[in-house]
Amino acid sequence: MDIQNLLDDIVGAVQPHVGQGNVADYIPQLAAVDPHQFGISVATRDGEVFSAGDAHVEFSIQSISKVFALALVLAFDGDGIWKRVFREPSGNPFNSLIQLESENGIPRNPFINAGAIVVSDRLLSVTGSAAMAVRDLLRRETGNATLEADQRVAGSELANSHRNASLAHFLASCGNLENPVDLVLESYVNQCALAMTCEDLALATRFLAANGVGAEGTRLLSPAQTKRINAVMLTCGTYDAAGEFAYRVGLPGKSGVGGGIVAVVPNKCAISVWSPGLGRSGNSVAGVAALDEFTTRTGWSVF
Ligand code: GLU
Repeated sequence: MDIQNLLDDIVGAVQPHVGQGNVADYIPQLAAVDPHQFGISVATRDGEVFSAGDAHVEFSIQSISKVFALALVLAFDGDGIWKRVFREPSGNPFNSLIQLESENGIPRNPFINAGAIVVSDRLLSVTGSAAMAVRDLLRRETGNATLEADQRVAGSELANSHRNASLAHFLASCGNLENPVDLVLESYVNQCALAMTCEDLALATRFLAANGVGAEGTRLLSPAQTKRINAVMLTCGTYDAAGEFAYRVGLPGKSGVGGGIVAVVPNKCAISVWSPGLGRSGNSVAGVAALDEFTTRTGWSVF
């Protein structure tokens, strides 16, 4: 398989989709990003990296950070988190309040905002700073010591975070938050504001394609924990379009409103794509098209 050639081809093939959709505008800093960009990177299980297009441009990873926060909580703290968060698709928008109330403050899964806020809360309790813990994991996995949260994005989201604040207060009212709401929100927003390139993101996600073994052979998760994270990504990782994503791409994936998506081919490689234009469910239009193309052409899917 000539992966480099394939990625170069995919950059050409997705051009008609680049710029389609809308950039997220509820976080003002994200609204300012040029939608006419597309990048793709693949990091193989053995550490080889291939990139094409705008794979070296930094973007806001947003909800993709939820995967790394969950991995850290499972690594540090085991299965206790599953008493506070379910692992079923929600079928609702990622920031919905309705289900949280009818299900008594237990979020449907760790990848909708309410669930991710609970995970960040636990990571805050265990490490003293969820955002730093995620950042340090990503620095280790990528070897990029300058990887950092974009403070303009964090500030912009924090100033407009009424919805997440509502979710966090509701969680607290149900006894499902261990730390003060303001502290948890600040941590959550800072982990979402981490800025990365496609290439860094593929490297950072590689442990999920390697049975839980990270950079330099360090074990981050057990093979069973890795399987479980990939399963939750497959069923819950791409907003309320996880069914469509499974149909088109056929891999565990996690998207973010910055236009990034990571996907995992177990035992083979991690793929990351980025293009800021989002479809109706919040997934990058060109990103999904590229992953569709990738798995269709390679046959590398879990199905
Ligand atoms: N920080 C964003 C929010 O909480 C993340 C959303 C996303 O990427 O899905 O609204």
